[in-house]
Amino acid sequence: MTPDSARQLQKLGYECLIESGAGSRAEFSDADYEAAGVKVVGSAADLWGEADIIAKVRIPTLDELEHLTPEKTLITFFNPGGNQEGLDIAKAKGANVIAMEMVPRISRAQKMDALSSMANIAGYRAVIEASNNFGRFFTGQITAAGKVPPAKVLVVGAGVAGLAAIGTSTALGAVTYAFDVRPEVAEQVESMGAEFVYLDFEEEQQDGAATGGYASVSSPEFREAQLAKFRELAPEVDIVITTALIPNREAPKLWLEDMVKAMKPGSVIIDLAAEKGGNVEGTVKDEKVVTDNGVTIVGYTDFPSRMATQSSTLYATNIRHMMTDLTPDKDGKINHNMDDDVIRGATVTHQGEITFPPPPPKVQ
Ligand code: NAD
Repeated sequence: MTPDSARQLQKLGYECLIESGAGSRAEFSDADYEAAGVKVVGSAADLWGEADIIAKVRIPTLDELEHLTPEKTLITFFNPGGNQEGLDIAKAKGANVIAMEMVPRISRAQKMDALSSMANIAGYRAVIEASNNFGRFFTGQITAAGKVPPAKVLVVGAGVAGLAAIGTSTALGAVTYAFDVRPEVAEQVESMGAEFVYLDFEEEQQDGAATGGYASVSSPEFREAQLAKFRELAPEVDIVITTALIPNREAPKLWLEDMVKAMKPGSVIIDLAAEKGGNVEGTVKDEKVVTDNGVTIVGYTDFPSRMATQSSTLYATNIRHMMTDLTPDKDGKINHNMDDDVIRGATVTHQGEITFPPPPPKVQ
């Protein structure tokens, strides 16, 4: 909750409460919340007791879930696919739980799509982190002291995070290349001023439409063609930002040790897939390492937290939109309409039942 989103929630008929200090790392003080009409509560435990609807960011601990009752609704990241214990407790407590990562990716739900909000921030921040670790300009310059070539940036994976990275990289003036297994993103990549990397491969790059807009595992031949292209690019590029993910799997290893070795000293790799095992051989999760040949590999997994004000603002807005859809009469009461595709899709427990995984959405 931000002071602004609290004002909007009050217009829906709700009284708002916040844990004291919850906004401080995002530069929102208790006084800011009070000025927005929010009641500041001493501790998280008090808040769990007092509130009917609890919104949070991190996956709740099992102790936290013990506070749930049939009257309470919890809205949070929940990792329902890997959190059976959490689902069981929420079910036993009879509470309604909405998992933000389960918001269906349909047009109507974009305003609640917290995964996209956070991926956008991570993509932007990846470029900032890269430039912070890179000893040269991104943009080319002609100066009195000589000509400076532009940096060359390769973005692997052009989903939400990759496109944000491409936009930031081109805005900083780098020559930017991007690769994705889904050929339909080529146009988006090119419209952002970057160059799409095509493979010398007889078959077309995978048809993403077959898997609902998501990538699937590449064939061995395709993978070989992709790796050959990356080997060719490795000595040329200064910065590599990898964002390649396949839903419900470990991240594919795409930037191998020999490619890291072939890069120039001072080059930087940001592996945004580090959370899922990494796209790069040599990534250490949550750390920055420098290889023997002087290449920096960054495996941080907390890029959104490194921009806490921005992340909180966007996440609070996603939550506020979810609350708007849950409160059609603006009467301060949740109408948990399981016939609504978006609400149904995101609800993982409802009235003492586990409702995950959801049926596929009817509307696209
Ligand atoms: P993601 O985080 O699952 O994956 C990131 C990217 O990695 C994807 O573009 C994927 O194609 C790519 N990738 C996978 N394997 C690869 C490989 N071997 N080499 C190179 N790239 C590889 O993706 P995402 O950001 O969640 O986006 C997936 C799709 O969903 C996109 O088409 C996006 O536009 C779409 N989307 C739609 C909505 C909506 O309609 N509301 C919201 C968000 C995203």
